[in-house]
Amino acid sequence: MSTHTAFNYIGGEWVSSSSGEVEASLNPSVKGEIVGWVQSSSVDDLNAAAQAAKEAQPIWRKLAAPARGEYLFKAAAALERRLDEIAETMAREMGKTLPEAKGETARGVAILRYYAGEGMRKTGDVIPSTDSEALMLTTRVPLGVVGVITPWNFPVAIPLWKMAPALIYGNTVVLKPATETAVTAVKLMECLAEAGFPAGTVNLVTGKGSVVGQAMAEHPFIQGITFTGSNQTGKRIGMAALARGAKYQLEMGGKNPLIVAVDADLDQAVEAAINGGFRSTGQKCTATSRVIIANDIFEPFVAKLLARTKELKVGSALEPDTWMGPCASEQQYDNVTSYIRQGVEEGAVLLHGGGQPEGLYQEGYYIEPAIFDQVNANMAIAREEIFGPVLALLRFDTIEEALSIANDTEFGLSASIFTQNIAHMLSFIQDMDAGLIRINSESAGVELQAPFGGMKQSSSHSREQGQAAIEFFTSIKTVFIKS
Ligand code: NAD
Repeated sequence: MSTHTAFNYIGGEWVSSSSGEVEASLNPSVKGEIVGWVQSSSVDDLNAAAQAAKEAQPIWRKLAAPARGEYLFKAAAALERRLDEIAETMAREMGKTLPEAKGETARGVAILRYYAGEGMRKTGDVIPSTDSEALMLTTRVPLGVVGVITPWNFPVAIPLWKMAPALIYGNTVVLKPATETAVTAVKLMECLAEAGFPAGTVNLVTGKGSVVGQAMAEHPFIQGITFTGSNQTGKRIGMAALARGAKYQLEMGGKNPLIVAVDADLDQAVEAAINGGFRSTGQKCTATSRVIIANDIFEPFVAKLLARTKELKVGSALEPDTWMGPCASEQQYDNVTSYIRQGVEEGAVLLHGGGQPEGLYQEGYYIEPAIFDQVNANMAIAREEIFGPVLALLRFDTIEEALSIANDTEFGLSASIFTQNIAHMLSFIQDMDAGLIRINSESAGVELQAPFGGMKQSSSHSREQGQAAIEFFTSIKTVFIKS
């Protein structure tokens, strides 16, 4: 793997930072391996990107939306051509297994095509006026320059499901990706550059969140900020944007429940718990982290869950037979293991995993998928987002009790139930406080044409993806015309 230094992309040029500093992106599967070097940018670099995006905005917004869509189709073709290479870089940078990394990159291609097509769809309405001689309608305009701040766990799909709608609706963009996956972000930006957007329409500035991200949240040229990441950072960005009257969209954490009712198909529910809890090493905001199980089927369900979990192969993200890769970084590994220690100290019983797989820890940040029993609702492992492969098992007798346990969290992103009982399905749809409701299906994974987002502390309550994205990336003008 070459370890050349990647540049920022500002005003259509690949440029180094005025700071003169670079930072390394590391491979969590192989301790000490450097995947590449990226610019550790300064506030001046961010200012230059915001300026370029501001200058490009009047040109870009004047293009007809179907013509803007043509650029997105070209970017999709470039990303599709480089799919294997970019997926491999992602697997190397953050430990996502190769099949999952390819799946995510393919999804990125589909997102670009979906929003390219949105350029051909209606964006306004005609509203009946009480004045029979008047025409009343709505039209939408872009916000202007949009700042995009993204985490490391979906380094292709998340930037694209923010940038593609921003662009199709006429905004110009500055992307600040997570440093952990900045080499993947540079390759993604190369695909956009290849599509030939007018200079300054899309820009990339890599670097520290506390420097580049913070400056972006405060920048007077940036009229909209869309962020995915932790609650702590999201709140800080939201406050900074609010203080200067900019629009903000925050997608943050989850503590997602999966209820297994007495009449559930246990095999399907076990697969959902495994995939929801352990795919991507549990590092998904929609990951299942609490499994709430009917007392009457607790023993057979847990026996099946343990048997399946023991079959999962943990290993390097690039090995073809690996089911689960390492934690994405040393810091992630330390966070997850400290939650596991705390779970044990608080009296939960570790039924399986939580340690380092035999022989592997010396090589990378590996951890065995962990399952805790005897969890009570006050323990940290039942309340806080762990962002790792840890399932907390809780028990219930009535469906009301299951819902009350499931709702006993400050988060409200995704929630899942396995049941054949239609009345229980309906009360789950009505009474579960979550933006994504899944019935007989795992908590993680939402199709790109459907709205995505959460309630409570998981989100600023706007929605990403599908046609819902237009609400954030545009402003409505109501027009009243009289001859
Ligand atoms: P993070 O909040 O540390 O970082 C996210 C991004 O914010 C990074 O680009 C980072 O550099 C930047 N940042 C950090 N400090 C900043 C500051 N002061 N000002 C502006 N930007 C700043 O989160 P992370 O560790 O990269 O990602 C993990 C978190 O993301 C988890 O909590 C997870 O739940 C959440 N997440 C949520 C969703 C969702 O859609 N709800 C999706 C994926 C991840």
